[in-house]
Amino acid sequence: MSNKLQVEAICQGTVIDHIPAGQGVKILDRLHLLNGEARITVGFNLPSKARGFKDIIKVEGRMFTEQEANELALFAPSATINVIDDYRVVDKFTMAIPKTLRAAFACPNSNCITHNEPVESFFYLRQKSSDIQLKCHYCEKSFSKEIVAELR
Ligand SMILES: [Zn+2]
Repeated sequence: MSNKLQVEAICQGTVIDHIPAGQGVKILDRLHLLNGEARITVGFNLPSKARGFKDIIKVEGRMFTEQEANELALFAPSATINVIDDYRVVDKFTMAIPKTLRAAFACPNSNCITHNEPVESFFYLRQKSSDIQLKCHYCEKSFSKEIVAELR
């Protein structure tokens, strides 16, 4: 059975494919997908040729902003985003870790000025072996993405 048949096709919207199994729920939560009006189809623990199992999320009638795609890259850097129009994939791109991230996550340092001043958080991202480090622009402390994105 092909992947196309595992989850119902959508007319127009976005398909996030190749999400590491188990991360799909976090993505739904993080992007507040369940709070909106969009029709969402999810598949968890689907067989994947590349890595055993994967999650897939289909969001009907909604395109992702660049900010959302950037946040997504932290959760699922290996995922692909397919833009669907008239039941066809019109655009397809893989996640890339952004160089910077603004206003996406709070700085874990409770003494950081971002908690007391009306400034948006701003991080510089750096790949460090298998982890991604985020360095706060304001307090200049570095954190693992696991801490910043509260993945644990
Ligand atoms: Zn900070």
